Amino acid sequence: MTDDCIFCQIVAGEIPGRIVHETETTVAFLDANPLAPGHTLVVPKTHHETIGDMPADVARDVFAALHELVPRIESAVDADASTVGFNNGTAAGQEVPHVHGHVIPRFEGDGGGP
Ligand code: ADP
Repeated sequence: MTDDCIFCQIVAGEIPGRIVHETETTVAFLDANPLAPGHTLVVPKTHHETIGDMPADVARDVFAALHELVPRIESAVDADASTVGFNNGTAAGQEVPHVHGHVIPRFEGDGGGP
């Protein structure tokens, strides 16, 4: 846990998060500023800034969580598809320095990606 990391604080239950899924090593919670209904973030419980900083087993667990969650999120909000992605590093727009995957539900005719 990194004390000043907002996602570590959500993982630790120190600040509220709308958690939708949890495994031994990952947590998924609703994005506070959703780009679409059901916009969800998937994070490792351990603090790593970028994809390359994660040990391979943690990366596998994050992707396994995405594998399980993406169809469930699409079904929950009746989406036609989803955009799944990581802003990896500040130059790519990563604002929270704790690796997180975005699951953004998409709907026919919603006008293009983020
Ligand atoms: P960007 O803000 O450019 O998408 P990131 O890829 O780092 O940059 O995404 C950070 C995401 O975290 C944003 O979508 C933001 O809405 C979300 N967020 C920030 N604080 C919280 C919080 N306390 N609970 C849930 N989501 C949060």
